[in-house]
Amino acid sequence: MKPLGIDPQHCLIDGEWVSPANGEYLQLVNPSDGTHLCEIARGSAEDIARAVSAARKAYDTEWGATTALQRSRYLARLKDLILQNTDELARLESIDVGKPLTQARADVIALARYMEFYAGAADKLHGQTIPYLDGYTVYTLREPHGVTGHIIPWNYPMQIIGRSIGASLAAGNACVLKPAEEACLTALAFAELARQAELPAGTLNVVPGLGAEAGAALTRSKGVDHISFTGSVNVGKEIQRNAAENIVPVTLELGGKSPQVVFDDADVDAAIPFLVNAGIQNAGQTCSASSRILVHKSRYDEVTEKMAARYSSLVAGPALKDLDLGPLVSQRQKQIVEDYLKQGADLQTVAVGSIHPEAPEGGAYTAPVLFAGTQSDHILAQQEIFGPVQMLLPFHDEDEAVTLANATDFGLVASCWTRDGARQMRMAKKLRSGQVFINNYGAGGGVELPFGGSGLSGHGREKGFEALYGFTTLKTVAALHG
Ligand code: ADP
Repeated sequence: MKPLGIDPQHCLIDGEWVSPANGEYLQLVNPSDGTHLCEIARGSAEDIARAVSAARKAYDTEWGATTALQRSRYLARLKDLILQNTDELARLESIDVGKPLTQARADVIALARYMEFYAGAADKLHGQTIPYLDGYTVYTLREPHGVTGHIIPWNYPMQIIGRSIGASLAAGNACVLKPAEEACLTALAFAELARQAELPAGTLNVVPGLGAEAGAALTRSKGVDHISFTGSVNVGKEIQRNAAENIVPVTLELGGKSPQVVFDDADVDAAIPFLVNAGIQNAGQTCSASSRILVHKSRYDEVTEKMAARYSSLVAGPALKDLDLGPLVSQRQKQIVEDYLKQGADLQTVAVGSIHPEAPEGGAYTAPVLFAGTQSDHILAQQEIFGPVQMLLPFHDEDEAVTLANATDFGLVASCWTRDGARQMRMAKKLRSGQVFINNYGAGGGVELPFGGSGLSGHGREKGFEALYGFTTLKTVAALHG
């Protein structure tokens, strides 16, 4: 397994593919069959230190001296290179994450689109002039932080690289990326494409390794000026604590327990594919997955029946077979999901999908499950499962719908299905959520749409133009000229 011809045992530091300092490696496993894929570097604090100082050097010299227009052109070149390698990138992601090929291909297109969006945005990011006392001219400058650290998970490596690295580079920062130990091949491939796009050495550094080692070293580094993290709540807390030591800003995206609210006047047939897909895409291993389906009691039986019909046709199988679901990313993740399912023994199981008969024994497969009869305080209705598990909850009126929708510690994504325009506006205001969708879910995942949460879902916004503000700091200049 050689992503774009490079040796996956290497880290990209200062523009060179290098071996990890301690000469240690981790095993990457193919979740579709449990076989060994390849060895990857087990980056250590020493590799992180080298990567951070390479990024600092790039920021202080060539990369820091680039104009916004030059950065825009680098990103546009990266976009072209990504698209030229669509097939290989999709295949790598599919094998590594266990993602059905079509979904992996969509992620490549999204990665390219992020580069395109931030290429277009780089030279449109500017400060303001501020009317002030007579004799002064006051203006603000949007400046990069300097060196940004990026810790990403295994579920959508390419999409998260796109939104995080794309925005950070456009804003003028130099980056150190620590991909997840479960899936990092497309991060390495992306690094190689950045090299081919001739980004100045050190502008993007990639150090694979364990969270507790390379990841923790990155979040403790005094050379890092901003940290963006996507992953679990507990690790998010630790990262925020580490960042506090150095008073470094953090952007945290920590998942959710996102509801879809189906009202009595909803177009249920239009809703059904969204209700289900939002729960099973990427085998439910999606931060913005919709795991709670709240339905007005007058449509509850109908929605239950129609979702169940769809569930019974869902099949999980090897990623390259490109079925509805692939395997989960690892046996560990499968165990986590199975432990949750055991805690759902008191719930009504409405429908269960199936596992393809040719799915290899060693794969991390789990069939999607739809539960009903759930109380909102049930553990399965409160905690993020990160697997293909959804639950139905009935409600009686709009107030109860809002209460139930907001009744978790998360607040990432929500949607409501109703034809009533006034209710749409009320719900958009009342739902505690970073994104609200009306009569859809996800709006196709647009890179233009600011994304992030509140509560345990984290803070800060990624994607869209908004992300550029997070990757910059504001300087106020007040000139007294009389
Ligand atoms: P998951 O449980 O889904 O794997 P994690 O939050 O553990 O999610 O992992 C997401 C990313 O965070 C991965 O890149 C992982 O290596 C990294 N990570 C895990 N623990 C730490 C830590 N203590 N400090 C920094 N990064 C970490």
